[in-house]
Amino acid sequence: MEALLKVKNLKKYFPVTKGVVFHRNVAMLKAVDGVSFDVLKGETLGLVGESGCGKSTTGRCILRLIEPTDGEVYFEGKDIRALNNKEMRQTRKDMQIVFQDPYASLNPRMKVRDIIMEPILLHGIASGREARDRVNKLLEVVGLASYHGDRYAHEFSGGQRQRIGIARALALEPKLVVCDEPVSALDVSIQAQVINLMEDLQKEFHLTFLFIAHDLSVVHHISDRVAVMYLGRIVEIANYKDLYQNPLHPYTKALLSAIPIPNPRAKREKIVLKGDVISPINPPAGCSFHTRCPFATDMCKEETPVLEEKETGHQVACHLV
Ligand code: SF4
Ligand code: MG
Repeated sequence: MEALLKVKNLKKYFPVTKGVVFHRNVAMLKAVDGVSFDVLKGETLGLVGESGCGKSTTGRCILRLIEPTDGEVYFEGKDIRALNNKEMRQTRKDMQIVFQDPYASLNPRMKVRDIIMEPILLHGIASGREARDRVNKLLEVVGLASYHGDRYAHEFSGGQRQRIGIARALALEPKLVVCDEPVSALDVSIQAQVINLMEDLQKEFHLTFLFIAHDLSVVHHISDRVAVMYLGRIVEIANYKDLYQNPLHPYTKALLSAIPIPNPRAKREKIVLKGDVISPINPPAGCSFHTRCPFATDMCKEETPVLEEKETGHQVACHLV
């Protein structure tokens, strides 16, 4: 399969300053620190890690909602960092985002119809009757009725609001949708409904998903491949079956041993991590996971492991593997 999106050595650093700013003393928060991956046409790549590991920042850099510090992002072979505003506007039609918080991401003063119509009008896709028909169709495909369009977002439940957010993201018929924890803010009982809807929409509209989540159980069903992030870096990436049944990185093993997965044949080694996630501000040298890894050696404190293919299609960044 062809890559729709290629990300190469992506970095996003934020300067952090405490109190008085001394120019030479600015610390760097390395939110994303050299991330590379492809997203193939039509697939769902799950991107998983604890909060603060840089997954949302990665998603935002890809869409250039924030400017990366360094690295390359290719969408359909185009280097999106080299596009001017007009070209970026055109390309952004093909790359949409569904936000985590359906409460904050929908304008409370706008009717649902207008929220969904806005991008259609803005990009000159349709107007008048045609635009209205399009909105009705979008409401229908996300499981809402056309009369819902005349209400305000606050009149809906969290799950329904996320459906509205999805309808808005699909309004421009994108190719890639960055789903930034689209179900994290929802009740567990609603999460599966929204994920199932997204899977159906993916098939119907031939979408490619980068699906961000903080929990491996959320992306279990929807992902074709899964990438695990820790402190701004990808530590493991594999086909979903290999990742769940044969995780190689100690961090992936720890994340997996914390969730129930209905697969009795999977090798499940219980791994308990030491301490909490450490700060991405001036992260430790060597393997950034060494402060929590039960297998860390002296080498881990000095040398940063690189992400390497250890089995076919299975990349890991760990000295032990
Ligand atoms: Fe643990 Fe060392 Fe592997 Fe890092 S490189 S995950 S510290 S064993
Ligand atoms: Mg996030």
